Amino acid sequence: MRRIEHWIGGTETAGSSTRSAPVWDPATGAQQAEVMLAEAADVDAAVQAASKAFDDWREVSVVRRSKILFAFRELVERHSGELARMISAEHGKVVADASGEVARGLEVVEFACGVPQLLKGEFSEQVSTDVDSFSFRQPLGVVAGITPFNFPVMVPMWMHPVAIATGNAFVLKPSERDPSVSNFVAALYADAGLPDGVYNVVHGDKVAVDAILDHPEIAAVSFVGSTPIARYIYERGTSSGKRVQALGGAKNHAVVLPDADLDFTAEHLVAAGYGSAGQRCMAISAVVAVGDAGDRLVDKLQSLTEALRLGPGSEKSSDLGPVVTREAQERVTGYITRGADAGARLVVDGRGAQVEGHEDGFFVGPSLFDHVTPDMDIYTDEIFGPVLVVLRAGTADEAIDLVNANPYGNGTAIFTSSGQAARVFQRRVTAGMIGVNVPIPVPMAFHSFGGWKDSLFGDRHVHGPEGVGFYTQAKVVTSRWPQPTDASGAGLSFPTSH
Ligand code: NAD
Repeated sequence: MRRIEHWIGGTETAGSSTRSAPVWDPATGAQQAEVMLAEAADVDAAVQAASKAFDDWREVSVVRRSKILFAFRELVERHSGELARMISAEHGKVVADASGEVARGLEVVEFACGVPQLLKGEFSEQVSTDVDSFSFRQPLGVVAGITPFNFPVMVPMWMHPVAIATGNAFVLKPSERDPSVSNFVAALYADAGLPDGVYNVVHGDKVAVDAILDHPEIAAVSFVGSTPIARYIYERGTSSGKRVQALGGAKNHAVVLPDADLDFTAEHLVAAGYGSAGQRCMAISAVVAVGDAGDRLVDKLQSLTEALRLGPGSEKSSDLGPVVTREAQERVTGYITRGADAGARLVVDGRGAQVEGHEDGFFVGPSLFDHVTPDMDIYTDEIFGPVLVVLRAGTADEAIDLVNANPYGNGTAIFTSSGQAARVFQRRVTAGMIGVNVPIPVPMAFHSFGGWKDSLFGDRHVHGPEGVGFYTQAKVVTSRWPQPTDASGAGLSFPTSH
């Protein structure tokens, strides 16, 4: 059985870990590897390696750091096919989708390559007589990332390129479900010339996470995952004095107005609802059909959903692959049963879907519900599977009220041909990322990514300018170089400009 170890200070090691967890092949249902689960001592070893590396790394010029990131960028691109296949093998998503994930992660690396520009400070000359003032930002030290299973390359890349470029040393605790790519990324960093200890990987579960949250030498924690864990990370991390950004789960709504191009809309909703088997934090999982758009839209959604091809992620013909684990498969089919029992109309039923030759795989067919009401748990809960639910609203205002009443606020989209309706929507809606005729409005790397309400705890979004701010702290210098002949001008009153 292949064994996946930690990556600490430039070498793979099991450290003091004795526990392990299975890594499944979701397409066959068979175990393909075991991943070691760190104890607190392993987290401490990674932090010590990072802390030692930080002392030198912070002294490396920004230009040199940028060159290493450029080299890393080239290596990620060169190995992007391999990375995509590794993602697909452990996560289950189709390879084309995994390639898209790598490409979006690469964009953050490219953003971080511009670190000399990103860290440029500000200078004010002669703020008082012979006095200048200037500000710049410095790294925090050792920072950590704790990441979910659904984007094992991209989500960590929202964090580590920016953290490392700005001069920090990084400890990653990736998901234990699809851990292999994080060690592969470590090897690419090493090949790019990143000094040992600047990027470390500690595999593990709650034990490792708690050790990170409590470690006195970790200055900041970035987390992405489900809402209950995000809330816990934020509360425990900040109570031990750390800077924390914790991105949580989502229930992303698409509001469809009667004036939308319904063929275009239906195609995009099906892609956004079922891509990656619905296991995206920006997946559209709730459609709010306004006025008479409903029946026409549901007919189109039904025929497109029924035409989707379910299959292993490694096969080009598959539109969507399995979900990540047997528990996820059972959770999703349980929701479908409860939705039907609660009285929603089950238009397409993906329960019991079989893929020939992969009878034990964790497959759930794409499923579509209509006439869902806000009290049903297929609406209130994040299902995180290939289930799309359609609700009905009388007016655009009612639809906005529905979106705003939902506790999640990650992304949302409107489909319409009215600029005015879109403008009202983008101003009133309480979510962090808005799409106008764009179903999955994931911001580009040079903007920042983050939600509102229960989709984010903390006040900084990830990557882009907010990511630079998160991983650095400001310093402002006020300086004077007096001539020996100058009067000192010192007095006991509070200094003012003159
Ligand atoms: P998860 O919350 O179960 O796990 C995320 C991380 O937390 C993993 O590293 C895991 O090992 C750790 N963890 C799990 N249980 C823990 C516990 N009890 N104590 C401490 N740590 C624990 O999430 P997941 O199932 O891996 O990923 C799916 C979730 O992530 C969905 O809710 C999805 O919406 C969310 N997500 C959000 C975003 C975003 O940008 N907001 C992006 C991707 C995924």
